[in-house]
Amino acid sequence: MTNESSAIALPGGAKMAASFTFDVDGESAAIAADAGLATSMSAMSHQAYGPLVGVHRILDILEGHRMKSTFFVPGYTADRYPHVVKDIVAAGHEIAHHGYHHVQPTGLSEAQQIEQIDRGCDVLEKLSGSRPIGYRAPMWDLSWQMPRLLAERGFLYDSSLMDADAPYRLLADPDADASATASAESIIEIPIQWALDDWEQYCFVPGLTELGPIQTPRNAVELWRSELDGMRTYGGCWVLTNHPFLSGRPGRAAALNDLIGEVVAMPDVWTACLSDIAQHFAAHPLTARTVEPIRQPGVPS
Ligand SMILES: [Zn+2]
Repeated sequence: MTNESSAIALPGGAKMAASFTFDVDGESAAIAADAGLATSMSAMSHQAYGPLVGVHRILDILEGHRMKSTFFVPGYTADRYPHVVKDIVAAGHEIAHHGYHHVQPTGLSEAQQIEQIDRGCDVLEKLSGSRPIGYRAPMWDLSWQMPRLLAERGFLYDSSLMDADAPYRLLADPDADASATASAESIIEIPIQWALDDWEQYCFVPGLTELGPIQTPRNAVELWRSELDGMRTYGGCWVLTNHPFLSGRPGRAAALNDLIGEVVAMPDVWTACLSDIAQHFAAHPLTARTVEPIRQPGVPS
């Protein structure tokens, strides 16, 4: 953890924080990567499994552990499956922003990024009753402009970056004065990491992701647990990202259920949804910083 973050006491005297998060990508992730996949009934059915089956299995698991989680929902998924958003909200979980289409902000103009944010906010607000305060970039591919665009729209936090073990205060503008701490000038960043994702373990869709042998739930959980065990030693905020179209399948869901049961029983781990974690860290003084842009001659920044 950064020094300032590690000095912040966690609820219950916990050594670390943990959050189980779910990205309800649905068809949007596939067609954003390759619009041609929309012509494949099979590929679309693979993605539709998430909102049709996986989400509700996961909601049942979370209810069994009385755990509140964060669901990142692309606006396109929300428009296509409005009842899914309503069911997540009715179960008491947080709905957060994951783009309108599952397109990476780095490939968009600023005007296009704004259109994606505002369009996603509008549909999530219409279905959930409140505007989201959390954002996660599709493919975790945050643009340099996005922290400012989020801060200008009242977002509390982002969860797309990887340069820390614990939440920190992220400057809205990478070129701004580092002493800025007002909420309008910074947001909370809750770091994530590729090893704590189920995509690399489970996703095999011809034409989209063909990473190689699909892993067993045992292998996936072993990887996620090793990072958790490390944070119980060193401290930090463990954020697991699962996709309902992947981890909602029966064998994987059963393994996830077991893992959640283990984690909630750990007295040194504070489990919470990301908005609760963000609000906890936002309530403490943290010096805002940024990811230093690359500025060498000949290298675009
Ligand atoms: Zn996604």
